[in-house]
Amino acid sequence: MFNLILFGPPGSGKGTQSANVVSTYQLQHISTGDLLRDEVGRQTPLGVEAKRYMDQGLLVPDEVVIGMISSKIDESPEARGFIFDGFPRTRAQAEALDKLLEFKETEIHLVISLIVPEQELTRRLIGRGATSGRSDDTEEVIVKRIKEYYAKTEPVSDYYNAHSKLERVKGDGNIEETFRLITKEIDKYLLPV
Ligand code: AMP
Repeated sequence: MFNLILFGPPGSGKGTQSANVVSTYQLQHISTGDLLRDEVGRQTPLGVEAKRYMDQGLLVPDEVVIGMISSKIDESPEARGFIFDGFPRTRAQAEALDKLLEFKETEIHLVISLIVPEQELTRRLIGRGATSGRSDDTEEVIVKRIKEYYAKTEPVSDYYNAHSKLERVKGDGNIEETFRLITKEIDKYLLPV
């Protein structure tokens, strides 16, 4: 099993690059943003609670997200591995993920951190807002999401760096160029299918 985290600020290309990684390496994709938007769309109790945070650009409480991830991992016992996209976003989530994987006798092998300058993030997210239909892609919420990232999520990279699992990849080029840099890192662990 090979488990990867695609790490980076909102707008760094995690979603786009996850899709490329999934089709090349056949990993099971887990995006907490997608899972939460699905709950919101179905107006489940979890979704109704999560929406209050998401619409303000704030992180959803750890226990909500961790519970969701745990059942998602259990749904795919035969997976070749997982790619986590938008998770973990706090130190508590990172520690919870380590425990969940340890229980399954596996671990996180690699964390790829996409590096994109803040100006470029804002430009991309505002551009995406025109078509995404996402209620959190407005200029006001985008600023809050990026702030939340630097306050709570970026420090999580230190956690993985301390375990020698972090690789920084330049993410401000075009999609193909960034994907080539990502595959260079993954290929050290896993061959494309
Ligand atoms: P994303 O699609 O990854 O940009 O996530 C959209 C929103 O969902 C975020 O701004 C948060 O409100 C929420 N969210 C997604 N993933 C997480 C997570 N791992 N922890 C807390 N909140 C999350």
